[in-house]
Parts: sequence; C-alpha cells; structure tokens
Amino acid sequence: MNLNTHIALALAVGLVLFHNDVTLAVLVGIGASIPDLDREYVFTRRKIFAKYQLHRALFHNIFFALAITYFNFYLGLGIFLHIALDLLTSPTDRGVELFFPFGRLIKNFELDYDGNIRKSRGIMWYLEDPVRIINKTADPGLKEVQKMPWVRIYGPFKNSRLIDWMIFYSSFIFIQLYESNNLIKWWEIFLYTALIKFSLIDFGIVLFYATGELWRRRLQFKDISSRVKYLIISLMILGLLLIVIQGLNLYSPANLIIGPSVLELIIISMLIGLSLAYIHVRLRFKKVTL
Ligand SMILES: [Zn+2]
Repeated sequence: MNLNTHIALALAVGLVLFHNDVTLAVLVGIGASIPDLDREYVFTRRKIFAKYQLHRALFHNIFFALAITYFNFYLGLGIFLHIALDLLTSPTDRGVELFFPFGRLIKNFELDYDGNIRKSRGIMWYLEDPVRIINKTADPGLKEVQKMPWVRIYGPFKNSRLIDWMIFYSSFIFIQLYESNNLIKWWEIFLYTALIKFSLIDFGIVLFYATGELWRRRLQFKDISSRVKYLIISLMILGLLLIVIQGLNLYSPANLIIGPSVLELIIISMLIGLSLAYIHVRLRFKKVTL
C-alpha cells in the first residue's frame, strides 16, 4: 500500500486507541512509515537487490516488528499495522515475507505452479511462488531470478488502486469527523507534534524517501555524474542519521506481559512441539512439507 495510506490509517487507529493523545498517535504514524525504508535505493544495483529480495522482507517481518515493539510500543504498533495492510497486497506488489529471515532457510518446494510434484529432499515449502505473474508484473527490483518457494504471503488488492486509496481517504475523513468538535485546535496540535516535536525523525524519513524515490524512479536510468550520485547518497545517509538520532530518544522498553519463566515454557513447548510434528509428518507423508 502507499505510504500515505499506512500513515493515515495508523494515525486514525492511534487517536481512537489512545483517546486522542496526539503524541502517541503520531508515534504510531511514524512507526507505520518505517518498514518501507527497506526499499532498494541507492545502496545497491537493481540486479543485486532482485537477487536478495529485501523489500517487503527486511523490515516487514514479525521479528522486526516485535523488536521495535519492545523498543517503543507505539512505533511497534505502527509497524504491525503497516505489515497488516501490506499482507493484503497482490503477488505483483510482492505481499509480505512475514517470517524473514527464517523462511529463507528452506530452499525447496513440493508442488510447482502447474501442480506437478517435485522430488526434493529436506524440508520443503508446499508451493512454488507464482513466478510467472511476478516476473511479468512486479517492480524490476522484485522480480525473481529463479523459481523460488512460496515464502511470501499475498492478498487480493493492488497497490495504489481502489482499496489502497479507499483506506487513505476513509482514514483522513474519519480523523476530521472524530475531531470535529475542535478541529482547528486539533490540527494545530497535530502539526506542532509532527513538524516540531518529532521534526528530526520526520524530516529524516521524508529526506530518505524523497531522495531514494528520486533515485529509484529517475536518476538510476540516467547518465549522472558520480558527484550527483554521492550527493544523493549523502542526503539519504543524513536522513537515516536524523531518524536514528531522534529514534534513540524514543527508547522506552515495554513491560512484558508474560514473565521470563512463562517465556521459557513457551520456547520449550514449541521446540518439543516442532520435534513431534516433524516425526509425525515424516512418518505420515514420507517427506516434510511446511
Ligand atoms: Zn510496506
């Protein structure tokens, strides 16, 4: 989904959940803008990026979301909301690789896209990624170079189309209605919070995205001097620095709802459960498919 959609929905959710606390709602909005920082920008050539497929993986997985939630609950909530929306997008937009990087450990798949069963060894994903449609329609940096297991999760909607814009407009309208009692005052507080209170991190995000997109959409196809290239890289690094500098100030670790002893029990149970399931599936099907 578009960045404006992610931010608008996160703001609306934040306002409702945290009873009009604009600071907390803006933090949720900032969180929702973080995951797309994993886009293929100037740091690498497209082909290399296509090989590693980091967009919609690196910052779009539950482990990253959990880590940020521990760092700051409200930023983390924004990231979960972002991932939830991207999960609804099509193979063309490359859905979300929810279990990155662990999903990458499995290299094989059992069924290809035509329904033929492959004879592979080791643990397998059930299905091949819909590589034909991806390679015809996906962004060049996200096309697969070879047939891959289905590690991403897809939904029915396409970026920038009806549902994407519907969520954006609905969220925006909702905020105006929700704050209609004192709308002008609310906008004042909101603009102060977004532009002054969190100015460094917000400016950093805008700078990073603006220069990154300029590179991704235009400059990389042009014959530009290395001076311009270094200027773009410098501006992006400056953006990242601003994000990190103000971001570090937002550290406020959450009190875990579950204690360490329960966490231990959960991990032990999962490990034993995994072993039992492995034996069960192996005996039943003679091969192990996730
Ligand atoms: Zn995203």
